[in-house]
Amino acid sequence: MPRIDLHTHTNTSDGTDTPEELVATAAAAGVDVLAVTDHDTTGGWDRAAAALPSGMRLVRGAEFSCVSDDGRGGRVSVHLLGYLFDPTHPAITAEQERLRGERVARLRGMTAKMADAGYPVDTEKVFSFLPEGATAGRPHLARALVAAGVVESVDQAFAELLYTGSPFYVPKADTPVVRAVEMIGDAGGVSVFAHPLARKRGRVVEPSVIADLAALGLTGVEVDHRDHAPDDRALLRGLAAETGLVMTGSSDYHGSNKTIPIAAETTDPEQFEALVAKAGGVEVLTG
Ligand code: AMP
Ligand code: FE
Ligand code: FE
Ligand code: ZN
Repeated sequence: MPRIDLHTHTNTSDGTDTPEELVATAAAAGVDVLAVTDHDTTGGWDRAAAALPSGMRLVRGAEFSCVSDDGRGGRVSVHLLGYLFDPTHPAITAEQERLRGERVARLRGMTAKMADAGYPVDTEKVFSFLPEGATAGRPHLARALVAAGVVESVDQAFAELLYTGSPFYVPKADTPVVRAVEMIGDAGGVSVFAHPLARKRGRVVEPSVIADLAALGLTGVEVDHRDHAPDDRALLRGLAAETGLVMTGSSDYHGSNKTIPIAAETTDPEQFEALVAKAGGVEVLTG
């Protein structure tokens, strides 16, 4: 059975592998189908494609930073995976560029707050972990904190200092998730709600929000993800069966910024075929 991992990051966003290294890591782990899904950018697509080993298939995607109603009268930040969309679609290029700018300003803001509180971090050091043109994220600040000896790991930096709502947290203006679903669909792609019940990251949406999005064109939901508890996975499977959403499973690999290995969670081949059958912006590439 093919090994399919539909959610991974490179150093074009907050992973630590280059696109070439990501593809090599996937090959070494026996991955047959790999999706590259950096935050708010398609900048790693061409390098991953050029490095594709013979026989491996590459699904080009991105993880969109969104905001959603939480189903309880509030708002919550969520992630939406978009796959196989046309990367030159004007609405997508404009929104991704805006978000990357938003992220740079926000990371500077968080760094300044920490420096003001006496932590040994500065903008230059934080941005030294960010290749030219890559998407900025809190993991870059986390790495600067590890390098300065403030914490021992990226995980510890998030748990103690960088979590959503911490005194150093600065929000960013994310895309309304309904708009993102529409934009990805307009560009010929398919959309999958990423880790919707990752409760350790903060508040999550009510299941009714996912069902409402399914009616508005959402294609799938990420069920098997490390941050999902067994009962939440079962709940999402039931929801997908009721609403016709495709179910995926993925590692959300970030290189050494997270401890999860590539392909630690995978997608069922039939579900993958159902997902691809609905997409038409760009092709699945074969090495
Ligand atoms: P940002 O995109 O700047 O809001 O930062 C969120 C990113 O930080 C996520 O995409 C993850 O890659 C990472 N992240 C979130 N929570 C943790 C955590 N507890 N430990 C390590 N990385 C995390
Ligand atoms: Fe990330
Ligand atoms: Fe995510
Ligand atoms: Zn991710």
